[in-house]
Amino acid sequence: MEHLEFHRQTEERLLRYAAVTTQSKHGDGQWPTTDCQRDLAKLLYEELRALGVRAEYDEARCVVYGWLPAAHLDKDRPIALIAHLDTAPDVKGWDVKPWVLRAYPGGDIVLNESEGIVMAAADYPNLAQYIGQDLVLTDGTTLLGGDDKAAIAALMTLAQYFAEHPELPHRSICLAFTPDEEVGGLARDLDLELLGAAVGYTLDGDHLGWYQDQTFNAAEAFVTITGRSVHPATAKGIMINAADLAGEFLASLPEREKPQYSSGTEGFYYVTSVKADCEHAEIRLIVRDFDRAQFRTRQDMLLVYAGRINERLGEERVRVDIEQQYRNMGEILSQYPFLVADLEAAIRAAGLEPRSEPFRGGTDGSALSFRGLPCPNLSAGYENAHGRFEFVPVPSMAKNVEILLHLTER
Ligand SMILES: [Zn+2]
Repeated sequence: MEHLEFHRQTEERLLRYAAVTTQSKHGDGQWPTTDCQRDLAKLLYEELRALGVRAEYDEARCVVYGWLPAAHLDKDRPIALIAHLDTAPDVKGWDVKPWVLRAYPGGDIVLNESEGIVMAAADYPNLAQYIGQDLVLTDGTTLLGGDDKAAIAALMTLAQYFAEHPELPHRSICLAFTPDEEVGGLARDLDLELLGAAVGYTLDGDHLGWYQDQTFNAAEAFVTITGRSVHPATAKGIMINAADLAGEFLASLPEREKPQYSSGTEGFYYVTSVKADCEHAEIRLIVRDFDRAQFRTRQDMLLVYAGRINERLGEERVRVDIEQQYRNMGEILSQYPFLVADLEAAIRAAGLEPRSEPFRGGTDGSALSFRGLPCPNLSAGYENAHGRFEFVPVPSMAKNVEILLHLTER
């Protein structure tokens, strides 16, 4: 019976939250990157209050906190559960019109009759797993924002359940809803002291029952090349063409160590932009690796490639600056093996087989783990995120509430 209640409540919530625009943007160092995220933050704060849950809304930083004190347990270890408010900037994220397809019968789904937008079952084989389920869909012109509002819907439903059932035992639960995950916010404005948890979980990611306890180590490199421009007619022995040097630098990157040739636990270099003329060139690239030592070597090699060019020229024309972005949370989480053990037990108790693979990206949990809140990531259960064919199976959200019930009663 519980399950039906979760089904109805998570669905109703996702429809409501998805309709609120919360798209973040790649910005200029301002946090939060967009004001609209506050619309959902305020809504969640008010809903928590209406449920009788102690809550706080840090409007300036756009972070919502909620606390459910421990009940009927001898021992307590406060647990943080964290989801993000924003949706990805990749596709249109405003004017979202979510709707529910009841008992998906299989086959293609017409998302938008008048514009002829169809999600073809042949293009999205993951649809076949959800035959017979209610699906929350888009109208084919925007993303859905199930990433990460499917998680918010599950967390708010969990809060409602415990608020309505004070007789049930559970640990102290510290909820947090944070902005700008999609644009590298790394939950920077989440106040861990105020949150008051010892350990936590982020809820983000696709496929129900999956979790991650490994992320990339990540850095961004800025290569600046200074040339010497003169008229080409009289350039002999004088001109130093920064564009040529940029080409030389790029050619020294190992050909197979690029995203298009990498998978699993393999790292890579990814050149994200090149701007070059004779006088000046700039290359931006990101460096990714799961292994800490290999990650360092990768960065050192960039200095070696630059050094070789400088040596040949007899002067420093190529400079490499490296900015650290985030680190593999596995380094921290390996010191807290019970976090993954508890999570796997909770997923099993909800009737699923836990599945995990190293996440070829970063999560807010990577940063939080290094700030002192060890934080694996549990899937939110959405599919096809960051696109117009995003959808959320309602039973996946309901199941996540069940997983969280098992997780918080331990
Ligand atoms: Zn997300």
